[in-house]
Amino acid sequence: MESCRKSAELRALGKRIIRDKFRWIRDQRIRVGFCYSDAEKKKGKKLTYAECYKVQAIYKPWTPYDFVIVFYEAVTDLLTDQQREILMEHELMHIGIDEAGHLYIEQHDVEEFRPIIDRYGLDWAQID
Ligand SMILES: [Zn+2]
Repeated sequence: MESCRKSAELRALGKRIIRDKFRWIRDQRIRVGFCYSDAEKKKGKKLTYAECYKVQAIYKPWTPYDFVIVFYEAVTDLLTDQQREILMEHELMHIGIDEAGHLYIEQHDVEEFRPIIDRYGLDWAQID
């Protein structure tokens, strides 16, 4: 069964990237939790590295977070520090807020966010 645990290390990485590149997340007081999961998830044949979840209303009484970013440990352990940073940036890009202040999950432009491709190329997640 899948088990998840909070991660101070992921939180530090996430907070740093929010500070550097997603200041609006902080300004809007959007609360993001970070955890590791021991699950091995696949989308088709591709392993899932990480995901960003919007916390549903029904869970709000039990969690202080609006979004939770989960790194799937088995695969993310194989990434370099730089790849982990890009992955975190990618997941943070899934955080969306509309003009009325409603939160939502931002979808990819293609299979990846355009700015990520422009900055790091399509193969940034390749494991050597
Ligand atoms: Zn994504």
